Amino acid sequence: MNTHTVTVGSLKIGGGHPVSVQTMCNTDTLDIQASVAQCQRVAAAGAQMIRLTTQAPKQVKALARIKNELHQTGITVPLVADVHFSAATAMEAARVAEKVRINPGNFSKDPKRAKALLTDLLDVCKEHGTALRIGVNHGSLPEHIMEQHGDTPDGMCQAAMEYLNVCKEQGFEHVVVSIKSSNTRVMVQANRLLVQYMEQAGMTYPIHLGVTESGSGRQGRLKSAAGIITLLKEGIGDTFRVSLTEAPEEEILFGKLFQPLPPIPLSTTLAHESATTTTLWNRLIVQACYDWAPGLLDGTTDWKTLPMPFVEAPFATKEELVEFSMDLLQATRCVFTKPEYISCPGCGRTQFDLEETVRAVKEATSHLKGCTIAVMGCIVNGPGEMADAQYGYVGEGKGKVTLYKGKYPVMRGIPQEEAVQRLLELIESDSSTNKTPPSTRTTVTGVPFEI
Ligand code: SF4
Repeated sequence: MNTHTVTVGSLKIGGGHPVSVQTMCNTDTLDIQASVAQCQRVAAAGAQMIRLTTQAPKQVKALARIKNELHQTGITVPLVADVHFSAATAMEAARVAEKVRINPGNFSKDPKRAKALLTDLLDVCKEHGTALRIGVNHGSLPEHIMEQHGDTPDGMCQAAMEYLNVCKEQGFEHVVVSIKSSNTRVMVQANRLLVQYMEQAGMTYPIHLGVTESGSGRQGRLKSAAGIITLLKEGIGDTFRVSLTEAPEEEILFGKLFQPLPPIPLSTTLAHESATTTTLWNRLIVQACYDWAPGLLDGTTDWKTLPMPFVEAPFATKEELVEFSMDLLQATRCVFTKPEYISCPGCGRTQFDLEETVRAVKEATSHLKGCTIAVMGCIVNGPGEMADAQYGYVGEGKGKVTLYKGKYPVMRGIPQEEAVQRLLELIESDSSTNKTPPSTRTTVTGVPFEI
């Protein structure tokens, strides 16, 4: 898709500029020292944009200090304020950050008021040369969109288009748009549909890609790579974030392997004596997603007819490649042979060790094939964003956890030390009494998602 150029500080997005890779801090933004140190680490890893949680005006002030300290050390990577639930905070942040991300699902409940507030925000952005991202998420669509369109690819696009239409009316060009889902099929189909809607409306806004709450480890990498690379291969996408429940540096190091496309051949990596096993497996993920993900996601490749393993690599055993091939089939939602984990990457709202918790949940539930389990870092956004899951572990803060069944909280205020065991008991008790909740969204196997 041909897009126009959006300037974000020193970075150009769209308009034929190279696709940029970005990440988000998982520090408390009020902890200036920790946030500056993490920004320095991700900048050294190659981050071209860094997002920080910006809940309220005090975080905007902290963001200004972080930016100032980074500039003093020669780091001018553009900073993005991630704002939810507060148009006033977005306006404050637009005076400080190079870009502000807002979510139509929580910018304002009333569509008319949202339009007025967005117009005011665009005025501040124009005055300060700030860019904007309209960031729609599958799990947090506005109420009126849910009523009319449901949480479908079309609903996601309608939510984005409402905001883009205001930007167009106001002659504001410095907008990037994203529509994300943890479901790779929904993410791909929604972005393709968005391109159609924008082309019909004569819009050329750059697109930010991402598979949200994709998890960690190989499963998280496969989901992110499958969705993002499928679209990049079609010429859709100007910037992206690989979302992992790991240190943000890992998102950058893995995301950098997406360029160039087609990927550097594995044989070239193998020829480097310094190539680690992790590098080889990460390169295999990128190569396999480049070769196989589009057909598997669209259903044009019949996975049932593929030899096993269908992915080749000289450094791995046949058994390892069979498991890898099955993981790729799961990431593309063809077949589910392991539990499906949805976990957010964590951010300034997270008040516990999310990475360690995900590891513990995976260890305790690895036998629950086909079950979808979410682990989310906060009670503010977590429940909405994990709406695809059958069970959820959501951090309340202050060492307490709420467990969810589908969309409903079933146990609140559980001490963190007990929560993994209680989650396991909840799932096993449901399974023994046939009360396992159905997944609330599509888990279609091998069938293209209908638009
Ligand atoms: S669910 Fe909460 S903790 Fe996790 S990334 Fe989103 S806002 Fe941050």
